Amino acid sequence: MAVRRPGIIALFDVDGTLTAPRKVATPELLKFMGELRKVVTVGVVGGSDLSKISEQLGNSVIYDYDYVFSENGLVAHKDGKLLGTQSLKLHLGEENLKSIINFTLHYIADLDIPIKRGTFIEFRNGMLNVSPIGRNCSQEERDEFEKYDKVHNIRPKMVSILREKFAHLNLTFSIGGQISFDVFPQGWDKTYCLRYLEDFQEIHFFGDKTYKGGNDHEIYESERTVGHKVISPDDTVEQCQAIFF
Ligand SMILES: [Mg+2]
Repeated sequence: MAVRRPGIIALFDVDGTLTAPRKVATPELLKFMGELRKVVTVGVVGGSDLSKISEQLGNSVIYDYDYVFSENGLVAHKDGKLLGTQSLKLHLGEENLKSIINFTLHYIADLDIPIKRGTFIEFRNGMLNVSPIGRNCSQEERDEFEKYDKVHNIRPKMVSILREKFAHLNLTFSIGGQISFDVFPQGWDKTYCLRYLEDFQEIHFFGDKTYKGGNDHEIYESERTVGHKVISPDDTVEQCQAIFF
C-alpha cells in the first residue's frame, strides 16, 4: 500500500486539463485521479461555479478530491466541507459597487456604436461582466461587434477609462470572448486559492491556459507553485505518471 507523500499537492485546472474543453471528464481520468490521491494530496481549481464543475467532474466532486476550489477559490471546499467564501459584494461594499455600476452604465449610454441590445452588466459572485453591446445579442450580432471592436477598440478604450477612474479599488480588467470584459479585484485569479495551501511545501499546478492572458497564467507563474503546462487530459495523466509514480 502506497504511503501518501506529505507536504505535496497536485493541483489541477478543470476545463481543458482534466476534461476536454467544455466536456465531461472520462471514467479513465476520474479513476486515475483516484489512484493519484493515494500518493499525494489532490486539488482542483476552476473558474466556474461549483455546479458547473460538478457537471464536468461529477456530483461527488467535493468528496472525490482533497480540495475543490470553485470560482478560483472564492468558494473553497476541503474534504467535502466548506472552508470559506468570498464575493464582490463583501469585498467592495455596496457604495463602491454602485459607483462602478453607475459610471459604467453612463459610459455605455453615451457610447455610439452601431447597435445595442440588453444586459450590459452581468453581476456575478466574483466579478462584473460588462458588455457594450449587451449580452443578449444574437450570435450574428456578436460576430459583428467583435469585428467592429477590432477596428474601433471599444473595449480597450472603455477599460482604460474605467481603470483610471477606479484605480483606488485595485481592480483587474480582463478582455475575453467576443463582446465583453470582466472586472474583478486584483489577485482574484487562480492564485486566490493558494491562501488555503500555505502548509504545502510543494504545489504542483497543471493547466492548459498558461500563456499570458490565459486564465492559468498567474498561478502557473507564481513562485509558490511548480507550473506544468498540459495540452489535454491525456497529457495531464502522462505528466503525472512521470512526476508522482
Ligand atoms: Mg483550462
